[in-house]
Amino acid sequence: MYGKDLIIGGKHQPAQGRARFDVINPATQQVMGQAGRAAAGDVELAVQAAKQGFAVWSGLPAGGREAVLLRAGDILSRQGEERCLELLIDESGSVINKARFEINYSVDLLRTAAGEARRLYGDTFPNDSPERLSMVLREPLGVVAVISPFNAPLALLVKMAAFPLAAGNSIVIKPSEETPLIALEFADLLLEAGLPPAAISVLPGFGDECGAALANHTAVKGIALTGSTETGKLIGRAAMQNMTRVQLELGGKSALLVLRDSDPAQAAALAIQGMFNHAGQICMANSRMVVEAPVFDEFSQALKQGCEALSIGDVRDTDSAYGPLINRRALEKVQAHQQDALANGASLLTGGAVHSGLVYQPTVLLEPGCDSSLWREESFGPIASLVCADNLDHAISLANDTDYGLSAAVLTHNIQWGFKAAKEIRSGAVHIGMHAFQSNALAPVGGVGLSGIGRSGGKFSIEHFTELKWVSIELGGAD
Ligand code: NAD
Repeated sequence: MYGKDLIIGGKHQPAQGRARFDVINPATQQVMGQAGRAAAGDVELAVQAAKQGFAVWSGLPAGGREAVLLRAGDILSRQGEERCLELLIDESGSVINKARFEINYSVDLLRTAAGEARRLYGDTFPNDSPERLSMVLREPLGVVAVISPFNAPLALLVKMAAFPLAAGNSIVIKPSEETPLIALEFADLLLEAGLPPAAISVLPGFGDECGAALANHTAVKGIALTGSTETGKLIGRAAMQNMTRVQLELGGKSALLVLRDSDPAQAAALAIQGMFNHAGQICMANSRMVVEAPVFDEFSQALKQGCEALSIGDVRDTDSAYGPLINRRALEKVQAHQQDALANGASLLTGGAVHSGLVYQPTVLLEPGCDSSLWREESFGPIASLVCADNLDHAISLANDTDYGLSAAVLTHNIQWGFKAAKEIRSGAVHIGMHAFQSNALAPVGGVGLSGIGRSGGKFSIEHFTELKWVSIELGGAD
């Protein structure tokens, strides 16, 4: 059993009233640990500590911040397997390959963020008067709240924490209530790397109790949320109340377009990779597959065979494609979307039942209808729609038939078709010749519409978590 409380200003301490909550392993549905349960009083302590931490951390030279983040990357690279692998598997139900991917990607993110610490560029611009100079300074915001989701509980946390830190902000982390323990481990690792203790706090707890108090705090000057659109709306409102800078990375309903020149078997293999990773609990999962008529039948057959050949369930088997959903609510949402699609006239291509425990079969429904919840809402599970398009324009209009817009993919060898789709699909990203679930520490990840506001990654995160200040000098009075 794992057991950890809170970290406030770099120090482990119990929550006020010594409150704790259970952490459940989704694979066994048994309690695997406990974490401190932070509430408003703990939020106050953490934010006050972070205000002090900001003065210390932002006062370090860029090279000092770079060195801490590089050391953190080195520690994670050497010790990640030992310190994080089992925790990721047990806490989030990740299969071992996905857990390893998260650790490796987190190392990459820390090293990329370290490099950004030296690149807080400002600007200069001309004045009407030759006697004046004008410049633009780039400054950190102050205390940044980092509110993270359960599905990639290490990598997304590292992404949201490392870039604001690189820019000189201090952070207060509110991890998902499903996966608090990995966040506490990551904070320990940053402290070992030399982060000034007051610059980091971790508040495990619940969204409405702890997350809301943090998001509404007037001393918080920036908020990074990765989570559902529903939570994004609540946090967005809280942020506007205090005029707090906010980055919202929210849900998706990504389309994968398979155009008529694609190899159906290869396209189906890519569609499966982009859809069923982590049981479809990926914001960019290509859960709407749109296939041009000439390759539709062959693609459907290959997709069905590929899904039925997937090995699923055992989280410690390196051949396992995915494990359980995070909890029963998530499973029930998948089942509800399936029932609604069937009621709207869809037919089942493959799957459609529980495999075991919280593991659901890879499931694809044919032509669910554009009003079905499966087509319109994020399912966040291993269930996808498959629809037929008459031509490229029809495929693009189906891709755009959504209020979300996080990622999209187009499978074609025709460069003009690929670029036409990339230009016309409304989405934060469009990938050609690849599936929709892509990651790159330098890329501007984010969405349009209900998928969120702002971009994270590399210099784009730095831009988001810094403020510009115009400074001008009158030279005329110098003699
Ligand atoms: P969630 O919205 O339930 O929770 C996210 C975080 O917000 C948690 O820490 C939660 O405790 C907190 N929270 C909840 N209510 C709050 C409130 N009122 N005030 C402050 N904080 C609150 O999301 P989840 O289920 O953990 O994660 C899955 C969602 O995240 C999916 O919708 C997925 O698409 C999205 N996601 C998006 C991206 C992206 O890059 N756009 C990446 C991963 C996941």
